[in-house]
Amino acid sequence: MNKDFAVIGLGRFGGSICRELSKEGMHVLAIDSDEERINEYKNIAYHTVLADSTDEDALKEIGISNFDHVVVAIGENIQASILTAVILTDMGVNKITVKAQNDYHEKILNKIGVHQVVHPERDMGKRLAHNFISSNILDYLELSDDHSIVEVKAGERMIGKSLIELDIRANFGCNIVAIKKGHEINVSPSADQELREGDVLIVIGADKDITRFERELVID
Ligand code: ATP
Repeated sequence: MNKDFAVIGLGRFGGSICRELSKEGMHVLAIDSDEERINEYKNIAYHTVLADSTDEDALKEIGISNFDHVVVAIGENIQASILTAVILTDMGVNKITVKAQNDYHEKILNKIGVHQVVHPERDMGKRLAHNFISSNILDYLELSDDHSIVEVKAGERMIGKSLIELDIRANFGCNIVAIKKGHEINVSPSADQELREGDVLIVIGADKDITRFERELVID
């Protein structure tokens, strides 16, 4: 079932969300206070509206509370982003995602009760940093301040060994939730599963445990 999305702010981030959702066949209402930006998205989004999202009446007129998911991607103007978020939460919008510009902005958005706060530059920086440390660390997803999921290529020290031999849970305190072998993904792999070159492990755990696991088994 298609969801109705509204994206407020068509900068690089909001614009890319709008393009991708539209490409996937979703109905997207693109909102921006800049006429040029709106014109740019006329042929991309399902519908475009030139409006200032800090204007509560304008948002009411648009019927913003009827949308399944509203994304606020106003970057520079933190005040406008916060005010928009307050209006949307007050209106009881079903799902609100807001792009945060910095940690302070993020804290306020969480306090307001925004359902999802994203910090794309910071998160991408973290993911890249992990990949710079080792090309075996393919991806990194922060679950909370101190827990993450990482996707790692089996390091040399893991090849030919089974999960029970490596005993990652006992030795490092983290869990292998899945193993990808080529196109196949094996969720909850059995303990006797032997690791081969090119296998990719999805590991979940506390950051300190994951770091230890990476240092000892992943980074060649
Ligand atoms: P990105 O890195 O994603 O490009 P940015 O930090 O450059 O983000 P801005 O350019 O500050 O983001 O804002 C993104 C868009 O939000 C702009 O097109 C701007 O016109 C729009 N915008 C800013 N304030 C409002 C507002 N109050 N109502 C609607 N749109 C707004």
